[in-house]
Amino acid sequence: MTAPLIDPFQRAISYLRVSVTDRCDFRCVYCMSENMTFLPKRELLTLEELDRLCSTFVRMGVQKLRITGGEPLVRKGIMTFFDAMTRHLDSGALKELTLTTNGSQMERFAADLHAAGVRRVNISLDTLDDQKFADITRWGRLAQVLKGIDAAQNAGLRVKINTVALKGFNEDELFTLTEWCASRDMDLTFIEVMPMGDIGNEDRLGQYWKLSDLRARLRERFTLTELTERSGGPARYVRLEETGQKIGFITPLTHNFCESCNRVRLTCTGELYMCLGQEDMADLRAPLRNNPGSDAMLEEAIRAAIRRKPKGHDFDYSRQTVDGRVSRHMSHTGG
Ligand code: SAM
Ligand code: SF4
Repeated sequence: MTAPLIDPFQRAISYLRVSVTDRCDFRCVYCMSENMTFLPKRELLTLEELDRLCSTFVRMGVQKLRITGGEPLVRKGIMTFFDAMTRHLDSGALKELTLTTNGSQMERFAADLHAAGVRRVNISLDTLDDQKFADITRWGRLAQVLKGIDAAQNAGLRVKINTVALKGFNEDELFTLTEWCASRDMDLTFIEVMPMGDIGNEDRLGQYWKLSDLRARLRERFTLTELTERSGGPARYVRLEETGQKIGFITPLTHNFCESCNRVRLTCTGELYMCLGQEDMADLRAPLRNNPGSDAMLEEAIRAAIRRKPKGHDFDYSRQTVDGRVSRHMSHTGG
């Protein structure tokens, strides 16, 4: 182990989120435009490079690795990478290896992921209605994702559902979704829609369903007990006394959660974003590729980047305009 990564605000960086591809088999309307241009393959870090980078972070104190995208399970050969990370779980350096997925390929990968040491997965699902699912994902099929969720649970993976709260879209499914998750022993986290990237026919304010309103609606039917546990991330949690399940709220726009931020994000091209909501990034691909025999330059580049980690983001809808937006898509930085 080398010295741990501590940023200028005394936050220890122990959580790395890695986007392994910008590609996806869906085109969710809040995430991508219908005609996305993806990066040429040569721009991507190879699976070996991803291994080397992640292993360097683990050596520098990262204990939790979340693989995301784009859709991480459409990256060719991705199981090779998961299998390679198992050694860090076995050594005890890595405490958790996990992923965020749209679930479409889960049926194929669930057992292998469990064998690689994955124990929990986040699966994104915004609606339980076939037609609405097809509309919101443009290219997705609900039945395939439901099969994926079954497969994940059958393989012994704990599933948490992530739902983007969308005004006029899934407001009417609040209780259906909550009760469906409860019946399958799955926790559920709601996410406020964020101003990320050009999605074509943009209507962020129209989509924005404030989670404080969503929470008030939940309270009409359930008893909510605040949980003090924090993941170091943006989610706040309550327990529903009637069902026992945990409900999370990711509210980047109505709360500031930055003071306890323990994470950084790596894109599939080796850019390290110190904050999801800021444009500043550090290129790690050059120090990686230019120094095949040694990780010293790479480690220095990582330390230099962490020294620049900003205090927080500036997303703001409060003036009824979308302020503080960032130009890259969520699928680029990895949600
Ligand atoms: N494809 C995988 C999936 O959908 O779970 C992983 C990547 S996706 C970018 C990660 C998460 O970001 C998903 O839960 C998705 O709903 C969420 N997301 C995408 N665009 C968003 C936006 N503009 N605002 C809020 N959440 C967004
Ligand atoms: Fe793909 Fe996930 Fe973005 Fe939907 S949210 S388009 S599934 S990357």
